[in-house]
Amino acid sequence: MDERPERAGRIAGVAASEGVAVGPAFVHVAERLEPERERITAKAVEAELERFQGAAEAVVRRLSETGDRLRESGSEEEAGIFEAHVEMARDPEIHSEVEERVRRLESPEAAVLAVGEEYAAIFAAMEDEYMAARADDVRDVSNQIAAELVGSRAAGLEALQTPSVILAHNLAPSDTARVPKGMALGFVTAEGSGTSHVSIMARSMGIPAVVGVGAALEALLEAETVAVEGGEGYAVADPDPETVAEFERKREAIAGERAALEEYKHVEARTRDGRRIEVSANLGSVDEAAEALSWGAEGVGLFRTEFLFMERDELPSEDEQYEAYREVAEAFGEKPVIVRTLDVGGDKDLPGVEVHEEENPFLGWRGIRMSLDVPELFKPQLRAILRAATAGNLKVMFPMVVDVEELRAASRVLDECREELEGEGKETGPLEVGVMIETPAAAVCAAHLAPEVAFFSIGTNDLVQYTLAADRGNERLRRLQSADHPAVLELIKYTCEAAREAGILVGVCGEAAGEPALIPRLVELGVGELSMSAPSIPRAKKIVSRL
Ligand code: PEP
Ligand code: MG
Repeated sequence: MDERPERAGRIAGVAASEGVAVGPAFVHVAERLEPERERITAKAVEAELERFQGAAEAVVRRLSETGDRLRESGSEEEAGIFEAHVEMARDPEIHSEVEERVRRLESPEAAVLAVGEEYAAIFAAMEDEYMAARADDVRDVSNQIAAELVGSRAAGLEALQTPSVILAHNLAPSDTARVPKGMALGFVTAEGSGTSHVSIMARSMGIPAVVGVGAALEALLEAETVAVEGGEGYAVADPDPETVAEFERKREAIAGERAALEEYKHVEARTRDGRRIEVSANLGSVDEAAEALSWGAEGVGLFRTEFLFMERDELPSEDEQYEAYREVAEAFGEKPVIVRTLDVGGDKDLPGVEVHEEENPFLGWRGIRMSLDVPELFKPQLRAILRAATAGNLKVMFPMVVDVEELRAASRVLDECREELEGEGKETGPLEVGVMIETPAAAVCAAHLAPEVAFFSIGTNDLVQYTLAADRGNERLRRLQSADHPAVLELIKYTCEAAREAGILVGVCGEAAGEPALIPRLVELGVGELSMSAPSIPRAKKIVSRL
């Protein structure tokens, strides 16, 4: 039986998130539209103006509906963004300038893009940071009207109204987050690997995904319907009836397997010789807490806090952060929740922090390096975590550490924050401190780090990329993107030995923690906690129970 992805008609990529889906294709193109038609004839002016009105109205309708939906689901802030976009799409000045240009025989799509660009330049030049950031909004809106005019299927993800398979060059976490609930049946991207953020998001959302298909994405862009096989890593453009039937059988089989795993959801995972292994969830936002518990999470092995800092105009306040951390701590009660301090770098913009473009952002100013350099970033976060620790069983963990000095420096800031809060009469809770072992340096220094922390958490995603010198997002380096490499396993082994010596817990929070083939190896090496995308939890518990 030839089930390999390279079978004819199959577009092969990385099996990024298990499951199958067949559905209408939705092309997400983030790049700017280039109108093909610049000029119109004098005869066509009135009809073209009418078309422009129709397109603007369609965009207004779509944006308003999205805004209403967000408001109903309690996302006030996001709803506000859409309302502002509606205003822009209706703006009388923009409309009259487009009209003027069309009367000068510019095509309405070229006109609306040009006017959008003019307004964007005005916004961008403003001193006020908030106003300057509106440049992207006006560009986005004019782009949407132009897309509507040329009948392009490339539209904003938030506009998705039919459950679809989303095709994109790449998807940022903010893109996936914008997809209305239930509207993504699957993802196929040209870029990405198994540990790039789109894959992590897809797994935690339980949505099938194939990433890193490269230039072959082109072949899908023309398709009406796309089938995605996220477990084997391929997609099919306009599948024939047999393929659709085959996918339906697979879907049923997967549903059957998931049902069989139900009984493992809420068991305490223990090996057959009685060793207890905690199986926890990785969270990327507060909203994922309830879902993680329903999959049987015994805690949170990694709470990524980046979501609080991205896509906004100013840094989140201490109070806003406190609310987020408290909410997760409360949801998990006595179960441990490990909050990781901010881990961004030169590849992402951060409001209020001057981040210079770097040649090698992954080897640059990121994670704990940035936090230690920018106290106005680090201290409010630590203060918020200390305060939220009164509400549950919180722990804190530092990312990208390479030596004991960094750990000590970070711990000193933590102590300082605790003293300040006590001086202000604010209550703080107990907080164990841990480090991520995600650089080869940290693994090699594990014996020095272990006596100074309460736990280790191995971040295999970065540990693999730094050990094997292989960018975790580069689709050509698939062979070098697995923790199942002797060099990586040796570092994990060494880390586990150091942890055992010091009597501390060692967990794994990289994607390897949820990989069936790796779980036995990790447990054998001494890992005591596995933290993964929530839908993988029942299977991991089953595997552990059989060891
Ligand atoms: C890791 O590097 O393994 C990890 C868990 O952190 P992130 O994926 O957020 O870099
Ligand atoms: Mg990492």
